[in-house]
Amino acid sequence: MNKKSALHGGTPIRDTFLVFGAPRIEQPEIDEVVATLQSGWLGTGPRTQAFEKQFCAYTGAQYAIGLNSCTAGLHLSLLALGIGPGDEVITTPMSFCATANVIIHVGATPVFIDVEPETGNMDMNRLEAAITKKTKALLPVHLYGRPVNISAMLAIAEKYNLPIIEDAAHAIETKYNDKKIGSIGTTACFSFYATKNICTGEGGMLTTNSKKIADMVRTYHLHGISKDAWNRYSESGYKHYTTILPGYKYNMMDIQAALGIRQMERIDDYHAIRTHIWNMYNEAFHDLPITTPAIIPDTIIHARHLYTILIRKNECGINRDEMMEALRAENIGTGVHFIALHEHKYYKERFGYKPSDFPNAHEISEHTLSLPLSAKLTDDDVHDVINGVKKVLGLL
Ligand SMILES: *Cc1c(COP(=O)(O)O)cnc(C)c1O
Repeated sequence: MNKKSALHGGTPIRDTFLVFGAPRIEQPEIDEVVATLQSGWLGTGPRTQAFEKQFCAYTGAQYAIGLNSCTAGLHLSLLALGIGPGDEVITTPMSFCATANVIIHVGATPVFIDVEPETGNMDMNRLEAAITKKTKALLPVHLYGRPVNISAMLAIAEKYNLPIIEDAAHAIETKYNDKKIGSIGTTACFSFYATKNICTGEGGMLTTNSKKIADMVRTYHLHGISKDAWNRYSESGYKHYTTILPGYKYNMMDIQAALGIRQMERIDDYHAIRTHIWNMYNEAFHDLPITTPAIIPDTIIHARHLYTILIRKNECGINRDEMMEALRAENIGTGVHFIALHEHKYYKERFGYKPSDFPNAHEISEHTLSLPLSAKLTDDDVHDVINGVKKVLGLL
């Protein structure tokens, strides 16, 4: 017997709304934030430095710079590499707008290549054809926490001598053939936005193995003033500083780092919880008319940032947006990652794109739906999501 959908007056699966991407915050980070407030040092300081060190240890990168966002890291990567007007940067249309916006910020042109239909990641088989004399960098995204085809990308980057800026917003835990993301590209940029795998409210980190780039990013990220100026009010005495270049206000503050330091201690535990949830979904959905995420080979560690399914009307009887609406009525929040960038107003109008220009990205964009995958979820919550999906498909 089919249960009546809450959208049509039935009883919802849950009494309370399950928020999509809810952060898991525990007592240690609350205590650390309070200790930070009591310490009197709220801005960039010792906790930001400690978080940076922890991040180097976790990723294997030589340098890590705490920032107020991943977007700031992507922007500063482009600036540090000297990319500007007249230059092209090759990236993916299947991402959050920040990935392409930063290319516009420096006056360069984003060049999209289509994605692999199964993974949504940049299709490296299309990379070489997109390279021109103007190409100055590659900006891949490890979508949902799954690494792009790094061997193929590195081979082409080396052949054309192109730096790689990794948008690793989803990929803190990601590994490719035992190599940690953060120690592979020229720079990698991570996000600690509220819905990400670890969160500091807002926040980001840039990693690199290049001292030159690390020094430039450090200068750019705090007004362009000389290196240790954040320390100018400490007990070692006031020091004069000088402005080397017109930099930005992109620094991380110690209140954010306090959250990060304590969350890093549980990063692998949270990853294990999300892997468990992922497996519950796979198990429950394998015989439903929905497409589940691509199989994960043993050679990679997937960061399990987003669990996405494809909902096609001819298979499911309802389309993606109808499913979202029906799940919302069941008190289950979902997300869409992403509407392809070439279909957003600005990019469409400025570059004259049609949806069919990147057919694989368009196909995902039309049908993808992200189910809750936060380490905050209990098994009961996950069962609610599974039952909600079955119910709105008329299978409960
Ligand atoms: C969240 C996100 C960003 C931006 O991160 P912020 O820390 O909010 O700047 C960039 N790229 C992708 C793919 C993201 O999901």
